[in-house]
Amino acid sequence: MKKRVLITGAAGFLGSHLCDRFIKDGFIVFGMDNLITGKLQNLEHLNNNKCFEFINHDVSEYISFEGELDYILHFASPASPIDYLKIPIQTLKVSSLGTHNLLGLAKAKGARILVASTSEVYGDPLVHPQQESYFGNVNPIGPRGVYDEAKRFQESITMAYHRFHGLETRIVRIFNTYGSRMRLNDGRVLPAFIGQALRGEDLTIFGDGSQTRSFCYVDDLVNGIVKLLFSNEVEPVNIGNPDEITIAEFANEIIKLTNTNQKVIYKPLPENDPLQRQPDITKAKDVLGWIPKVSRSEGLKRTYNYFLSLTEDELYKKDHNDFKKYIKN
Ligand code: UDP
Repeated sequence: MKKRVLITGAAGFLGSHLCDRFIKDGFIVFGMDNLITGKLQNLEHLNNNKCFEFINHDVSEYISFEGELDYILHFASPASPIDYLKIPIQTLKVSSLGTHNLLGLAKAKGARILVASTSEVYGDPLVHPQQESYFGNVNPIGPRGVYDEAKRFQESITMAYHRFHGLETRIVRIFNTYGSRMRLNDGRVLPAFIGQALRGEDLTIFGDGSQTRSFCYVDDLVNGIVKLLFSNEVEPVNIGNPDEITIAEFANEIIKLTNTNQKVIYKPLPENDPLQRQPDITKAKDVLGWIPKVSRSEGLKRTYNYFLSLTEDELYKKDHNDFKKYIKN
C-alpha cells in the first residue's frame, strides 16, 4: 500500500517541489492550496498523474479530508516581505489558525506532521551564525512581525501538540532558498535581480548592500526536509546553506551570470531587514547526516535557465496573483 501525504502550499515554490519529490518516492500526494500566492502552472505537469490530487482550499478554514493520511507537510504561507505587507492578516492566519487545523487533522488521522518554520524566527539576529538554541530578536509589531510571530506561534503550538497529545511532529527552520518556480515578482532578492537583469533594468540594492544572506538550492532543501521527516528529531532543525554572501556581492554574481552590464542602484533598507543571516547546520549534519551539495554557482545556473524559459509576457507582468479579494479578510 502506498503511503499518503498531504502537502499544503502545494502550488507554491517549495510545495510544488515537495509534491514532485514525494511522487517520485512512491507516495500518493494530496496537494492543497488556495492559490493566493501559489499558481497551478507549478503543478501542471502532474495533471494526469494518478498519484496526485489537487485540493483548492484555504487551510485557515476547517479542513475536512476523507480517507487515511500518513504524513502532513505544512508549507502554505506567503513567504516574501512584499507578500506579508500586502496580505498581513492571511499571513498571520495561515501559520496560526492553519497550523491549528492541520495539527487537529494530523491527530485525527494519526499522521506525522512536519511544519515549515523559518530563519525569520531569529529576527534580526544578535548572534551569528544562528544555532537552533538562539531565541531570536524579533519586533512583534514591525512589518515582518506578521510572518515572524505567526511562525513562532506555529512552532509553539506544534510543540504543545507533541507534548500534550503525543503527536508525531517535526519542525524545519528554512533559510533563504532559491530555484525554479520562484515567483518573479514576489520581491525576493534573487527573482528581483534576475528579472531586472533580463528586462534591462538597474538592479535595486536595498541599504548599502552589506547585509548578508546564505542561499540554499531547492534540491538540497528538499533532501533535508525528507531526512528530517523520517528522523526522530522533534525539536527544530535549521536547513540552509552556510555559504554567506553580501547582497552587493550577490548583485555582481547575478550581473555576471546573466552576462549583462546592468548598473546597481541603491534604495532604503526596509524596516527590520536582518543585517546578517547564516545557518549553523551542525545539528542537521549530526542528527540527519545532511549537508547541502549544490554550490551557488551551479544552483544559480540551473535557476537562471528556468527564468530564461519564461515568456516575455511573464517577464513583464506585474504579478499573476489577485490579492484584492483577500484584503478585507
Ligand atoms: N533586497 C535587495 N533588493 C531587492 C530585493 C531584496 O537588496 O530588490 C535585499 C533585502 O533588503 C534583503 C535581502 O536582499 O536584505 C534578501 O531579501 P529577500 O526579500 O529575498 O529575503 P529576506 O529578507 O526574507 O531574507
